[in-house]
Order: sequence, then structure tokens, then C-alpha cells
Amino acid sequence: MPKPFLLIKIILLLGLPSVSALGYAEQSHNDKADAIFKLLDSGTIEQNATTQAYLEELDSLIPTTDIQRQLRLTRARCWAFNVFEEGQVSKGLAFAQQALNNPNLANYPNDKLDLELCEAWLTEQEGDVDLALSGYNKVIAQAYALEDLRLVADARGMRGYLHSYQGNFTQGLEDLLTSRSLYQSLDLSAWARTSLYEIATIYRRLGDQKSAIRYFKQLQKSYIESDNLDGANAITVAIAIAEEELGNLDRAKRLFEQGYHYWKNNNRDLEQATVAVNIAGTLIKLGEFEQASQYLDEAEPFILPTDEAFYSFLHLFRAQLYLGDGLLPQTHKSIAYARTAFSRVKNLRGLAQLQLVESQAFVQQARWKQAYYALSEYVKLHNELDAKLLSSYTTEMRTRFNANQIEEENRHLIENQQLKELELAMLEQNKLQQWIIIVLGSFLMLIISIFAYKQIQKNRLLSALALTDDLTQLPNRRYIYAKAQSRFEEAQRTQQPLSVILFDADYFKLINDKHGHEVGDQALVLLAQTCRNLLSHKHQAARVGGEEFLILLADTDMAQAYKIAQALVQKVSESNFSAFPQGFTMTISAGVASLRAEDSKLSQLLKRADDALYQAKSQGRNQAKVS
Ligand code: GH3
Ligand code: MG
Ligand code: MG
Repeated sequence: MPKPFLLIKIILLLGLPSVSALGYAEQSHNDKADAIFKLLDSGTIEQNATTQAYLEELDSLIPTTDIQRQLRLTRARCWAFNVFEEGQVSKGLAFAQQALNNPNLANYPNDKLDLELCEAWLTEQEGDVDLALSGYNKVIAQAYALEDLRLVADARGMRGYLHSYQGNFTQGLEDLLTSRSLYQSLDLSAWARTSLYEIATIYRRLGDQKSAIRYFKQLQKSYIESDNLDGANAITVAIAIAEEELGNLDRAKRLFEQGYHYWKNNNRDLEQATVAVNIAGTLIKLGEFEQASQYLDEAEPFILPTDEAFYSFLHLFRAQLYLGDGLLPQTHKSIAYARTAFSRVKNLRGLAQLQLVESQAFVQQARWKQAYYALSEYVKLHNELDAKLLSSYTTEMRTRFNANQIEEENRHLIENQQLKELELAMLEQNKLQQWIIIVLGSFLMLIISIFAYKQIQKNRLLSALALTDDLTQLPNRRYIYAKAQSRFEEAQRTQQPLSVILFDADYFKLINDKHGHEVGDQALVLLAQTCRNLLSHKHQAARVGGEEFLILLADTDMAQAYKIAQALVQKVSESNFSAFPQGFTMTISAGVASLRAEDSKLSQLLKRADDALYQAKSQGRNQAKVS
């Protein structure tokens, strides 16, 4: 740091102790709050209860006047609703909607956007996937506009999850690849893992179980390395699902059981129940109906209708078991439950399986017409799914190809963001110095301004002197040649006409000889005055030699210029010479030239004017000639 700044800083710091002491307590509270926010943002908190405790703490740490942190707290609260608990989704939605009414949000677009994302997410949890999707789309567009990478990552992650669940694998993959790479670059590894999980899930749903398992294993390793055993176990279950779809039923069963026991030992009822539903599906395929039924009984109290993903399959499996036992009314009842749930989340795969079970139930009841109808619905759904899958396969290559492009785009975004952050950090750092510089600079500026003003005035005078002819007060040769050069270039560029008149006093040597030099000077002043009187403001006359003058006529063609020259010649000869000695007369000769297309230099134009002037002289003087 240069010495003067150091000195200034010391002086300022001496003057500030009272302010610093006051701000200290608040600062430590703020630091604490920010650390909690960072932790909440990291996505590493597993238990909702822990999150709630942190929210309480934040509430006590942040003063109500701190609008920015209050808004951050509101965002954190919105995301903290435990959607697995009954009634929490609608409570969360009401909270988000209320929060979005906060007028302060007008000044904090990022906070507003995050709340809108939260609202969309809760809307999805409530089952309105179409509305949720349009919410995600809106948020993503705005998040890009704000270059808020975290929000882009969150929103695209959520949309990708939804796309994937609905069978739009390509779109899902694009979203999730982007969100994962953004999370990685933002050092949010927990969230990056979540996206990786979804990417693996898409491969599973695409039917590429081997790729899916490879990704899952990669993920599992990362969970174990970060001591996240819950995460690792969730992956065990995911691998089991993939194995089941590969037809490795025994291996799937073993892995499911492993996952199931882990949750059971850790008293995680809900998770245990979800795995129980999964195992039931495998057991049904293995023909172990009795055991499957037990698992479903055990899961049922924990799986709420609002948890469509599991509720739907629970009842599909129930229907299959009832059908096997010939309990047809119960079969239809379960089908109805499952159908509502599958329809709500638009799960075509589930609906197709359901149609098949339903048609089989109708067959057993000999209700042929309904059986036929259910079966044809099954075929229809299946065709739809096949088409979707096929288009996913063909577009999969494109997506893979696009992955580079996606990463490139992300890199640009990140670079932009990093630049912005750097700028912000620098701004923050420089604020104090800025003020010092502004205050001291203002004094300095004042002093400098006074000097500068005087200097400018002097310069102006000097340059006016340098460019003006003393005797006639017309611009001089140097000025008019510079001016003529720029007019010449402009006229060439714009194709506007440009003309010049060069004129010279006739027999001036004689005038001097006869009346004396002083009268000669007076005559030159008269010529200057005649020019001023005759010419409009856009024409400019200058004295370029002893008794030689040049007139620059912008935007004037040859005919107009010639007229002016003739008028000038006439005016001079008819001047009022009463202030001059008895018998004094004076005439001038003028040469006119205009810009031609072939002119490449100003001197060519001036040369023609000079030639024309020579002609006027040689043809008797007191006249104008054009070149
Ligand atoms: P013409 O141009 O008609 O051929 O004849 P001229 O007599 O004007 O010829 P020339 O251009 O050779 O003479 C110019 C004279 O103008 C020479 C000089 O004595 C005179 N002169 C030049 N500058 C000044 C000046 O500032 N004041 C006065 N009084 N005379 C000047
Ligand atoms: Mg002359
Ligand atoms: Mg001359």
C-alpha cells in the first residue's frame, strides 16, 4: 500500500473506535447466522429436526431490521417443510405464497426467485405436476437472467427429477447433467451427489441398467467416503431396483433386504416402509406371495396417499396379490387407489401395469367387455411408452453429444459469476479507501480545477491567437487548411458537395505604392468585412496570404459557389470607399473549384481554384472564374 494511503487509514482508524465497538456484537451475530446459512445451503443436514433447531437459532440471531438476512431466513423456512409429514405440504404452500407477498422482495430478485422455486417444488409435492413444471421453467429462465448459478442448479435439478419421473429422459438428463456440474463448481458436493443419483436413475428408467448400476456404485463410494451411511444405504436400494429390472431377482431381493434392515436398525420407519414396498414387488415376481403380503401390511400405515410414488405401487402390488387370491372386489378397490396416485403423477409405466392387472381381474369375473377395454388401454399405454422410449434412445446420442456443449455453457456462466464475485469483493474492500479518496480527492480537485480553469482559459486564448489573423480577425491559413482537410474527407465520405473560392486583391502592390501600407491594411480589413457580410454561417473565409483569401463552402455545389464568387467580386468593386483616400478603388479576382469524384487529395481541389484564379487574373481581373 502506498504510504499516503497507510497514513490516511491510520488517521481514520483513530477516529473510528467508538463505531467499531458498537458494531462488534452485531458482527459476530451476523457471522454466526451466515455460517448457519452456509450449512443449511450445503444440503448436508439429514434430520429435519436439526434444520428446525437451526432455524430457531437464526430467528434469535437476526435482527428484524436486517432485511436481507430475514429474507434468507424466510427462504430457509420454506425449504424446511417436511413434505413427508401429513399436512406439511399445504402449510408450506401457504407459507410460500404469504412470503411472496413481502414488498421487500422487489429489491431482492434472487430471494424472490428462490421462494418461487420453493413454491413450485411444494406444488409438485402436492401433486400438480403441470403447474410445478411451468413454475420450474419460469424460475430457470429468470435464474439464468440473474446469473444465479445456485438457483439454476436447484431449479434444473428439480425439473430434471420431474422430467425423469414422467419418462422425459432426454430433457431430464440435460437438466441433471447441468445441475450436477454447477453444484460441483459451486463446491456443493452433497447436492452434486443428489444430481448424480438422479442421472443414474434416468439410465435405470431408460433401461440401461448396467450404466445405472455403475453410476450408483460411484455414488455409493462417495457416500461412504464422506461417512454418509444413510446415503450409501439408499444407493443399495437403488441398485436393488436396477438389478430387479435386469431380471436378477435373487440379487435384488438380497440387496433390498440389506437396505430394509439398515433402516430398521436405525428406526427409520418411513424409509423402512418404502423399501418394504420395493421388496414386495420383487417377491411377487419370485412367486413368494405370502411374504410379499406381510411386507405390504407392514408398510401401509406409513405410506400416505400424498406420497404417490410409493402409495401407487403399494396398491398395484396389493391388487396383484388380491388377484392371485381371487379376491376380485378388493383387487378393483386397490386398482382404484393405485390409479388415482399414478394418474396424479402421470406415471405411464405404473398405469400400464395396472391396466394389465385390471383386465386379468375382469377376465376372472367373465366381464369380457371390460376386460377387452382394459387390455386395449394397456396396449395403448404400452405403445405410448414404447414411442417415448424409442425417441429417448434416438435422442440419447444427441444428449451425449450435447453434453460437451452443456458443459461449455456452464463454464461460461461460472466464469461470468466468478468475475462478478471478484468485482464485488474488490468493491467491498475498496469502500473505505474510496471514501477517503473521494473526500481528499474533492479538495484536490477543487484546487486543480481552479488551476485548470485558468490554464484552459490561457490555452484557449493562445490557440485563438495561433489560428486567427491579427489584422483581419479572420481565421488564418493554418486553421482553414486543417478545416478544409476535414471537410474534404467528410464530403468524400458522405458524397456531399464541397466548393472553395480563392480570391486575391488586384494590383495590390500598386495600392500600397500609391496610398501607403496603412491604407493597404485598411483595404484588407474591408475585404474581410465584405466576406463576413456576404457569407452565411456555414461558409468560412480565411486569410491565407498577404492579400489572398480562401472561402470554404460546405454543402455547396459549383453553380452556387460561382454565384457567391460573382457576388463577392461585385460587392468589393462597389464598396463604399468613403473612408479611404480620394480616388481609392479596389477589385478582386476569384477562382472557384468544386470537389470531384476523382479527387483524392485536398491539394487537387485547391490547385484547381488557383488555376481558375490565374485565369480570372489573366482575363482582365475583377471577375470570378470556375475551374
Ligand atoms: P495581382 O495580384 O493583381 O496580379 O497584382 P498584385 O499587385 O496584387 O500582385 P502581387 O500579389 O504580386 O502583390 C501582392 C502585394 O501585396 C505585395 C505586398 O506588398 C502586398 N501585401 C502583402 N501583404 C500585405 C499586408 O499585410 N499589408 C499591405 N498593405 N500589403 C501587403
Ligand atoms: Mg494581388
Ligand atoms: Mg497576390
